[in-house]
Amino acid sequence: MNRDTSRELYDRALDVLVGGVNSSVRAAPQPYPTFVRKGDAGHVVDADGNKYVDWVMGLGPLLLGHDAPERVTSSVQRRTSEGPMYGMPTEVEVELAEFVTRHVPSVEMLRFVNSGTEATVSAVRLARGYTGRSKVVVMEGGYHGAQESTLVEGDAEHARPSSAGIPQSFAEHTIPVPFNDRAAASEVFEEHGDDIAAVLVEPVMANKGIVEPQDGYHDHLRGLTREHGSLLVFDEVITGFRVGGLACAQGKFDVTPDLTTFGKIVGGGFPVGALGGRTEVMEHLTPVGDVFQAGTFSGHPVTMAAGLQTLTYAAEKDVYDHVNALGDDLRDGLRDIVDDKGLPYSVVGTDSLFKVVFTRDGEPPENTADVGKAAVDRWNRVFRPQMQERGIMLAQNQFESQFVSDAHTQADVDATLDAYDDVL
Ligand code: PMP
Repeated sequence: MNRDTSRELYDRALDVLVGGVNSSVRAAPQPYPTFVRKGDAGHVVDADGNKYVDWVMGLGPLLLGHDAPERVTSSVQRRTSEGPMYGMPTEVEVELAEFVTRHVPSVEMLRFVNSGTEATVSAVRLARGYTGRSKVVVMEGGYHGAQESTLVEGDAEHARPSSAGIPQSFAEHTIPVPFNDRAAASEVFEEHGDDIAAVLVEPVMANKGIVEPQDGYHDHLRGLTREHGSLLVFDEVITGFRVGGLACAQGKFDVTPDLTTFGKIVGGGFPVGALGGRTEVMEHLTPVGDVFQAGTFSGHPVTMAAGLQTLTYAAEKDVYDHVNALGDDLRDGLRDIVDDKGLPYSVVGTDSLFKVVFTRDGEPPENTADVGKAAVDRWNRVFRPQMQERGIMLAQNQFESQFVSDAHTQADVDATLDAYDDVL
């Protein structure tokens, strides 16, 4: 496979873009990232013209794949040619908000922003403003975007910033606990309950392997937060409009958070984030309340149109049946391959998320510490490059999820399973 153009582009990029990329994870593939020329249904074509089955799918936003139906593209083109934006309100942002509030159980009101990071930043500020408290509880190894309050590592006793440039004083307000560990959550509430503004959690941890909640775990968090007057914030940036379909993961698990953050799919492939919840909480945001929030590009008409048309299409067609069925086929097929070969690896995922984690003990990971034991170098240096040689584009590192889209076919699944079988 000739990949000279990607190599040359990366070489050029290294002079003018830090690490040659605009988001750190893109630089992970060895020995250099693949530059994309275009998408095509469930595939991407790279700068050298090589075609791959694409399971990256934009890191999650592309529920419909790379060939959006005509209603999406025509709406986006019209909005682009008529604007593209105004800094004044438009009807389409009201329509998308109406759609989301109709389908997502806990959401009565929304504020659209421009990224998942912005959504979680605003959620944390709102929770602090609403409760008058400072501390937030997060899951160890969780990811909520590039924001100061959650870029924290360590445990409840020893939290420290996970990046340079963040004062230690930020980490002092953040309490990491292990996912799925009810006793640990109860303990921090016993100790700090009156100071905790919010628990911030992904309903399914999808940034470090894929780790599912044990039965009742979210109910436990719901009970603790209610008892102590803290907010439960579900970060559904990945799970939103993917896990649990239009009702999102909170619908699937039947747990009602106080606030929900969205990103990715809700913008139909354009930059987006959103924050939603009960009116009584949401109305603490300016201009009604006193928690400041604003953005030049927020509710961008092109993004709103893409999100509205994508979700309306998903509501009218059998998109979730299709992507979830292919997800089942992938996970079942991968489990057979791993079992046949007697490999100690875990096949993880739900709905349209899937991944093989190179765990060493063969047990499904219950938290991110389990995933952290995975054989990262095997993934980066051996497994992923060989899959790519066989025309299968997998996540850019061992920890990122892989995503099924409506444009994927049974043939894509079969080709992928054949390649896994071969390379494993
Ligand atoms: N929260 C979660 C759960 C995420 O997975 C991500 C990004 N993958 C973010 C927040 C940040 O979103 P963005 O990259 O759009 O800022």
